[in-house]
Amino acid sequence: MKVYNFSAGPAILPQEVFAEASEAVKDFNGIGLSILEISHRSKEFQAVMDEAVALAKELLSIPEGYEVLFLQGGASSQFMMTTMNLLGEGETVAYVDTGTWSAKAIKEAELYGNVNVVASSKEEGYDQIPKGYSVPADAKYVHLTSNNTIFGTQFQSFPDVNVPIVADMSSDIFSRSIDVSKFGIIYAGAQKNMGPSGVTMAIVKKDFVAEPVRNVPTMLNYNTHIGKGSMFNTPPVFPIYVSMLTMRWIKKHGGVDKINELNTAKANLIYSTLDNSELFYGRAKKEDRSKMNAVFLIKDESLAPAFLEACAAAGCNGVKGHRSVGGFRASIYNAMSIEGVQKLVDVITEFEKANA
Ligand SMILES: *Cc1c(COP(=O)(O)O)cnc(C)c1O
Repeated sequence: MKVYNFSAGPAILPQEVFAEASEAVKDFNGIGLSILEISHRSKEFQAVMDEAVALAKELLSIPEGYEVLFLQGGASSQFMMTTMNLLGEGETVAYVDTGTWSAKAIKEAELYGNVNVVASSKEEGYDQIPKGYSVPADAKYVHLTSNNTIFGTQFQSFPDVNVPIVADMSSDIFSRSIDVSKFGIIYAGAQKNMGPSGVTMAIVKKDFVAEPVRNVPTMLNYNTHIGKGSMFNTPPVFPIYVSMLTMRWIKKHGGVDKINELNTAKANLIYSTLDNSELFYGRAKKEDRSKMNAVFLIKDESLAPAFLEACAAAGCNGVKGHRSVGGFRASIYNAMSIEGVQKLVDVITEFEKANA
């Protein structure tokens, strides 16, 4: 039976990427060695790194003055690394609180400066993206989480503010085009929409991190990695390689605008099904719905286990909601096909027929 992976992360990647990556584990590019055993300083791996950087720049139209870095420690380390590098003692930073990941980022920022939470949807159970707030001019930057993986909300556009934006794009990087010039730093753990776990991409505006605000340990200093092309120490060779293959796949499929069209079609399919349902309903406010993670609930909670069984029986894996939200979550990242979403929609429709 074909299994469709709706898991939130680590998550689905294109089948072609799995096939090529498995080949490279046995024999990388016909050199008679595995990608897992070659030096990160070899010309073969340097070519992978160069292509990964070039593809990221091309796919996201990254302007001059930005560096693409591949780091370790996950997006969670970026919560601390951004503020450690950017926020001097006594300086103020603005945060938009849209869910669990924002809250974790805020906690780290509080270690380094004054955190001004300018907007939050916590009171609303994080079912929406706050609007109509302003960012004070004395804020060094404003931090936001572009897609809220757990609550299924997403910034449909980014606020017009007079300070740089620092964004956690872990779960929607490469899902659409963005105006990178608005951002001081964009970071993303690879394992949602880009590659395996173990690498975090950071797109860093060089000017923005040029002035040191404190003494920062070498490994946690962006300038270390900018200066060494992400090769100060051994980089996560295999996750970078697989991420590069995914970027090649995105390019081959027409780039991020084309991917966004498909993502929109997939999201419309699942949300329209939920909106027409007597039994299920989407959790997030309509205008803020995520195209990556569709979070939905069931009116009669007692039917939840049976629905998950029906999903499993149809090969729809990973639909159970996050423990903090309950219900269901269908993660429909770039690599999820419309056929996969249709399969889940069929399960929803049939379950409803049998139980409503
Ligand atoms: C998964 C996730 C994280 C955490 O990523 P790690 O790489 O596990 O640290 C942070 N932010 C968002 C939006 C996520 O989805």
